[in-house]
Amino acid sequence: MSLKGKVAVITGSTSGIGLGVLTELAKAGAHVVMNDHTGDAAHNDAVAALAAEHGVQGVYIKGDLSKAEECVSLIEQAEATFGQVDIVVNNAGIQYVEKIEDFPPERWDLIISLNLNSSFHTTRAALRGMKTRGWGRFVNIASAHGLTASPFKSAYVAAKHGLVGFTKVTALEGADFGVTANAICPGYVWTPLVEGQLEEQMKAHGKDKDWVIENVMLDRQGMKKFATVEQMGATAVFLCSPGADTITGTSISVDGGWTAL
Ligand code: NAD
Repeated sequence: MSLKGKVAVITGSTSGIGLGVLTELAKAGAHVVMNDHTGDAAHNDAVAALAAEHGVQGVYIKGDLSKAEECVSLIEQAEATFGQVDIVVNNAGIQYVEKIEDFPPERWDLIISLNLNSSFHTTRAALRGMKTRGWGRFVNIASAHGLTASPFKSAYVAAKHGLVGFTKVTALEGADFGVTANAICPGYVWTPLVEGQLEEQMKAHGKDKDWVIENVMLDRQGMKKFATVEQMGATAVFLCSPGADTITGTSISVDGGWTAL
């Protein structure tokens, strides 16, 4: 599964699934670009230490990916640093839980910008170079909510369904050029995003934490357990490996059986 010499940009990769994917790609030999919107200097040290541990190069690039120009700038800065970008993992995303009639319109706009539009902007910026070189991989972190819906998550579900569709179009346009695009559709993975959502779910359902975990989060997952960020990383590495060369335009569910229901 060697990705030696490949350059991977992972959006929103200072925490959770993004960090898990970045770590597994570095282990597989890829040089890695860590990103988030904070500009926290600690991220420079974190990615340098992680890269050194795995014998690759790593940089942190600040970019608020809810803004189109910062998505483009992220890819351009990565290309300027490493000469090329071979793998883009579109992962940055946020959640907001509220019924439609009380859903703040500015939250809707932000979620669509970050969870959907950013993938278009990074893909648009990186695709030409990949096509020219005849190899590229897009791994879009969608969700079980890219395939099915839950109440109170209108913007998130709309964005993730959109991302699954965009992944298919990218796959078709890349097909003649050695460029694949696939979505990973996780069920619940224990990360800061899910931890933060607990409060909102407790409020929306008027119930306590244990009730929400059992009846809302894991209710539809046959396996009744959270997946890990390492498992998301392993799936992303597989999608970048030679074994997945002809897998494109599809969604891989890593959801403990949720969408089998
Ligand atoms: P997380 O909150 O742990 O990580 C999100 C990352 O995105 C962080 O690094 C954060 O700093 C970054 N980020 C936030 N706003 C940003 C912005 N404006 N610009 C750039 N980066 C920004 O969340 P997570 O659970 O790891 O989620 C990662 C992705 O996986 C999201 O797209 C989410 O929808 C998806 N997902 C998560 C789960 C789950 O159960 N955790 C399930 C399905 C899909």
